[in-house]
Amino acid sequence: MEDKSVNIKDFNRNRIYKLLREKQNLSKQDIVYQLQLSLPTVTQNLNFLLEQHLIENTGTIGNTGGRNAQAFSYISDAKAGIGLDVTKHHVTAVAVDLNGNILEMIRSKQTFERSERYFRFLGELVQELIRTAHLDSSKVLGVGIGVPGLITEDHQTVFYGKILDFTGETAQNFGKYISYPAILINDADAAGLSEIRVTPDINHAFYISLSNNIGGSVYIGNQVFAGSNQKSAEIGHVTVVPDGLPCYCGQKGCLEAYCSADRLSEAAGGDLSQFFELLKAGKPEIVHIWKAYLNHLSIAINNIRLLFDCDIIIGGYVGAYMDDYMDDLKKLVISRNSFENEAEYLRVCRYKTEAIAAGAALPFIDQFMNQI
Ligand SMILES: [Zn+2]
Repeated sequence: MEDKSVNIKDFNRNRIYKLLREKQNLSKQDIVYQLQLSLPTVTQNLNFLLEQHLIENTGTIGNTGGRNAQAFSYISDAKAGIGLDVTKHHVTAVAVDLNGNILEMIRSKQTFERSERYFRFLGELVQELIRTAHLDSSKVLGVGIGVPGLITEDHQTVFYGKILDFTGETAQNFGKYISYPAILINDADAAGLSEIRVTPDINHAFYISLSNNIGGSVYIGNQVFAGSNQKSAEIGHVTVVPDGLPCYCGQKGCLEAYCSADRLSEAAGGDLSQFFELLKAGKPEIVHIWKAYLNHLSIAINNIRLLFDCDIIIGGYVGAYMDDYMDDLKKLVISRNSFENEAEYLRVCRYKTEAIAAGAALPFIDQFMNQI
C-alpha cells in the first residue's frame, strides 16, 4: 500500500509538471481546478518543482477578483538533450530543450572510422556544442547517437551495420569520450520521432527517410513499433522491381537501389541541390530520372498505405526538396490504390536537415519528463 501512495504522489507531480509545460502562467487555483487536486497537494508539488528549478514563479495574474494570484511557468531549458547524426562523411550535433526545440546546431565534416581518433572527435564535438550553446553541463541529460544501422533493443549495440561497416560497434565505444550517458538509435527511428513530435495531430504514421540510404520507422499510438527483432519498417529493402538492380544488402530490386538520394545526385555531379535546379530548368534526362524515381517511390508508398492505413511522412535529403512535387507523387499513388481517390495522408517532412540529430536527443527528454 505504501508503494501505491508513493506512485500516486509521483503521478500527481508529473501531471502538474506536464500541465505547466502545456500551458504557461497558471495560478495554484488554476491547477487545482484543471487537475481536480487538493490545494495542499498542488502547493507541495509546486514547491518541489521550484526547488528543482524546473518551474518558476512568473509574477502575478489578476484573475481572483481583487487579490492577485502568483503565476507559475515551466522552464523549457531547465534541462537539455544532445543528439548526433553520424553519417559516412559528416556529423551533425544538436542540443534541444525540454520542448524538443533546437538550441544550437553544429555540422562537421568527418569521415567515419572505428578508431580512438574518431570517438575522441565525437567527445570534442559534444563539448564544443555545449560551449557554443552556453549550456551548464549539469543540465545535460544525455547524448543520443543516430546511426545508419540496426540497433539492439537496449540501444547499446549495432547488430546490422553494412552502410558504415560497423556491425558489433557499441554505445560504450561511441561514448568513450563523452561524459554523459550515451545511447545508439537507428537514424530513421530518430528522424521519425522528431517529425511525429512536431505533428501532434497524428497518432499513427510511417516515416520514410530518403537519404543516401533509405530508412523507415513506424509509429503506432505515437510509439515506435520496433518489431520482434528491431527490424520493422525496413522499407529500403522491399522489392519494387523483381530481379531488378542490385542492392548493397545482397538482394536485387530493392527500393534502396532505385530511390536513394545518391541516384539523383549522381546524375548532377554528386550534388543533390544541383539535381533539383536542373529539374526546375526542365533538363530532359533529369526529368526522366525524376519521373522514374517518383514512380518507384509510389509503389512503396502505396504498399505502406495498404498495410498500415496511416499517415506517411516523406523525409530525408530528398524529402527536404519534396514540397514542389507532392502533387505529382500523390497522383501516382492514387493511380495505384485500390480503395482511395485522394492521398492527403501523404505529408512532407517539417525538419529539413536536423531531424535525425534532434530525434536522437528525444529519448532522454521523454525519460526525464516521465520520471518527474
Ligand atoms: Zn536491399
